[in-house]
Amino acid sequence: MRDFSQDHRWLSINTATLRKSRGVELPLPQIIEACARRGIPAISPWRDQVHAAGLADISKLVKLHGLELSGYCRGGMFPASTLEGLRAAHDDNRRAVDEARELNARCLVLVVGGLPGALAGKPEGKDIALARAQVRDGIAKLLEHSRSVGMPLAIEPLHPMYAADRACVNTMEQALDLCDELDPSRSGALGVACDVYHVWWDPKLQSQIARAGRERLLAFHVCDWLVPTTDLLLDRGMMGDGIIDVRRIRSWVEDAGFDGYSEVEIFSERDWWQREHGEVLDVCVERHRSVV
Ligand code: ZN
Repeated sequence: MRDFSQDHRWLSINTATLRKSRGVELPLPQIIEACARRGIPAISPWRDQVHAAGLADISKLVKLHGLELSGYCRGGMFPASTLEGLRAAHDDNRRAVDEARELNARCLVLVVGGLPGALAGKPEGKDIALARAQVRDGIAKLLEHSRSVGMPLAIEPLHPMYAADRACVNTMEQALDLCDELDPSRSGALGVACDVYHVWWDPKLQSQIARAGRERLLAFHVCDWLVPTTDLLLDRGMMGDGIIDVRRIRSWVEDAGFDGYSEVEIFSERDWWQREHGEVLDVCVERHRSVV
């Protein structure tokens, strides 16, 4: 297992972690500058942040600082209740692949979606099996394009509390079953993003990480699960502040051959987004060394 205690060579910052500084929206160029100043070698930006700043400008800035992208967040949201909706999702996902390519990301992360309409608070049905079939078909179709431009797709299983509105793929096992079905040769074009927040509780986690192996482990996301958790989406903890044994899970992904970045991804409306972003980054660096 790699020793993270001496430096932060393998630290990546998911830019949602610095979405706000003292409660105020922080533009992506400032996030990038702050990471670069601390010698953080990689980021994983969100599409809305990239669009707000302009793809071409962000591409230039990333190259200027020699930053790598441990991933690009995010594609997915495949299910829809109409043909037009399915087509619109596909078209948007193709654009996400192309943006990820332009930014030279290691993968496009897929949050696959749940029941149509649920994210807006108006679920249009109850057929989760149909949603899962649409996810499978959507990924299969997107793979034709992503393979052609050489952009790996990373399915991120989300904690089952998000099954209705964000992702109906909820375990590593389920994500890997999709990978086996759609990319049986383990070509590297399709894999998983292992986010400890979503999978730490799973009794099959260790065996499924081993099953994934190097070819399918495309990203590793860290934060912590706070007890109690006060918001299902926006109360993630800093590594070390909760009950996830992050280092043990990292040992499993590394045993399986993963040697990429450890990406800090924290959505925290009431705590970390209220602090000054430089302070947050300093704590990320320190916890990366001492906890991850
Ligand atoms: Zn994640």
